[in-house]
Amino acid sequence: MRVLIGGGTGFIGQHLCHLLQENGYRVTVISRTIRPDGITWTDIHRHGLPKDCTSVVNVAGENILNVTKRWNDSFKEQVKSSRVETNKLLAKAISEAENPPESFVTISGVAYYKPSETEEYTEESPGGGYDWLSTLTTEWEAAATLPDSMNVRRVTVRSGVVLGKDGGMIQQIFFPFFLGFGGRMGTGKQWFPWIHIDDIAGILAYAVKNKSVYGILNGVAPGTATNAQFASAFAGAMWRPAIFPMPSLVFNTVFGKERGKIILEGQKVIPKRTLECGYKYKYPDLKSACHDLSSIIGWF
Ligand code: NDP
Repeated sequence: MRVLIGGGTGFIGQHLCHLLQENGYRVTVISRTIRPDGITWTDIHRHGLPKDCTSVVNVAGENILNVTKRWNDSFKEQVKSSRVETNKLLAKAISEAENPPESFVTISGVAYYKPSETEEYTEESPGGGYDWLSTLTTEWEAAATLPDSMNVRRVTVRSGVVLGKDGGMIQQIFFPFFLGFGGRMGTGKQWFPWIHIDDIAGILAYAVKNKSVYGILNGVAPGTATNAQFASAFAGAMWRPAIFPMPSLVFNTVFGKERGKIILEGQKVIPKRTLECGYKYKYPDLKSACHDLSSIIGWF
């Protein structure tokens, strides 16, 4: 049972690789660079899918919140093409494969849903097309479309902010919070759709394994929270105060307004279908997740 993982070298990809290997799968990553355990996007382009793939997963994508990159047209194009073109290439390779895989699982983001302090979104809610980020998620998801005639199970996981010690947001904020300088970001009233790294990898692996899972799944924890509630829970788990708010101006200056929105605005997202399809969360609420994330073990 071989799973091909686009972006398998990244934060989410590495956790997914380990989880699938623990479950008896053989994994092959697709990367931009030649690696002993993988193949490159050029290999897919030239030769199509390797023969014996049970499933294809794509979690590739240029890091949107890379502070070293200015938010200009060229970087936006890189952010877009690293998601849209990789999905398109895999969809094409699957549709041309002699022995197509059983499933094609891709990631996208909750930026699909319009930020709001009052609305509540499930997988059935409308979205997309109201700003650059939501248009990106629409195109990202659409790029993974397969011909109707194909008998390949399609799953898209719309992920919230992924919390884990070895990547993403927590790496940036752990030490300020640890030193007692943590606090809400912006007003703190915005929803903070979050998920623990073990659960986003868990949902993706669950989608690979379970033949009854298909369609859109919201990759967020059931325990919804605002940004201020998250800051307070994370600081509290370390026995620290959360009294130093980070003003919106800081995020708008560092990231630019369009990108700063990812942090300064949020959506209340409910994982309705994810729960209905039987996925059991390891960290369903902020308390359990923050307890794990705040543990000093694993940081040094
Ligand atoms: P990482 O940056 O850790 O890893 C992404 C991987 O994508 C990299 O390992 C890299 O693989 C590949 N990649 C990067 N740039 C490009 C590019 N220009 N072209 C092709 N491949 C590229 O990201 P995460 O693991 O955190 O996120 C994975 C996906 O999940 C992304 O698409 C992201 O948008 C999405 N997501 C993540 C969230 C989060 O909080 N982390 C939240 C919501 C969605 P290599 O260098 O081997 O080519």
